[in-house]
Amino acid sequence: MVPRRLSPEGGGGVGGGDTYGGYRVRLVETLRLKGIRDLAVLKAFAETPRHLFVPEAVRHRAYEDVALPIGDGQTISQPFTQARYLVALRLTGKEKVLEIGTGSGYQTALLGALAATVFSVERVESLARAAQQAVRQAGATNVSVLHGDGTLGWSAYAPYDAILVAAGGPEIPRPLVEQLAPGGRLLIPVGARGAQTLTLVERDDAGTRQIPLGEARFVPLVGEHGFDA
Ligand code: SAH
Repeated sequence: MVPRRLSPEGGGGVGGGDTYGGYRVRLVETLRLKGIRDLAVLKAFAETPRHLFVPEAVRHRAYEDVALPIGDGQTISQPFTQARYLVALRLTGKEKVLEIGTGSGYQTALLGALAATVFSVERVESLARAAQQAVRQAGATNVSVLHGDGTLGWSAYAPYDAILVAAGGPEIPRPLVEQLAPGGRLLIPVGARGAQTLTLVERDDAGTRQIPLGEARFVPLVGEHGFDA
C-alpha cells in the first residue's frame, strides 16, 4: 500500500473553548495522582479536547481514564497509557515525530502539542480521514495524517527524532529503525498478538540498543513488517 497524504476535509472550527474544560482538569488530576509528573505532558492533556476524537455514542465518557471504541474494531487508548508513553519519549518541543497508528488522532494531537512537527500514518482509510478532521478541529496545525502501511514508515520526511508505534507488532520493523535519526528514540510494543513488551529503541552512531519498558497490550500492527491482516 502506498502511503499518501490526505487532503484536508471540512472547515476548521473551534475545538478548545468548550463545556468540557472542567472534565479535562479532572483527567489531568487523575493522571497526576497516578504518577505522571511531566509538566509538558500534563499541559498537553489539559489543552487537547479528547471529546472531539471519540464517537458521539461514547462522548460522555471522553474524559474518563479508559480506552474507548472508535469504530472498525479499533480503540482510542487509555490516557494514562498514552501519558506514560509520551513521558518516555522525552520530547522537548523541537522534534520531528513519526506516529504509526493514528487511530482517533488524539495521541497525534497530544504529540503536536509536545513536538515541532508530527507525521502520523494510519492503515484504515476511514479512521485516517476522521482523525485528520478531528485534529484540524482541535486546532493542531503542525500535524499531517497519512493513509498507508506504517510498518514501512514514511521515508519522504525521514529521518525522525522520535517514532511512536501505537499498535503491537511481532518484530521491530526495519524501515522504522532506518528512518530514525541518530540520537533518536523509537517506542514500539513488540510480541505476540494481545501481549507485548513496550520496547524503547535508541539509535546512536555506534548502532541501536533496545530497552524493555514493561508489559503492554495494544491492537495488532498489521502490515508488511507486522502481522498478516
Ligand atoms: N493512539 C490511538 C489509538 C491507536 S489504535 C488513539 O489515540 O486513538 C492503533 C491503530 O493502529 C489502529 O487505528 C490501527 O488501524 C492502526 N494500525 C495497525 N497497523 C497499522 C499499520 N501497519 N500502519 C498504520 N496504522 C496501523
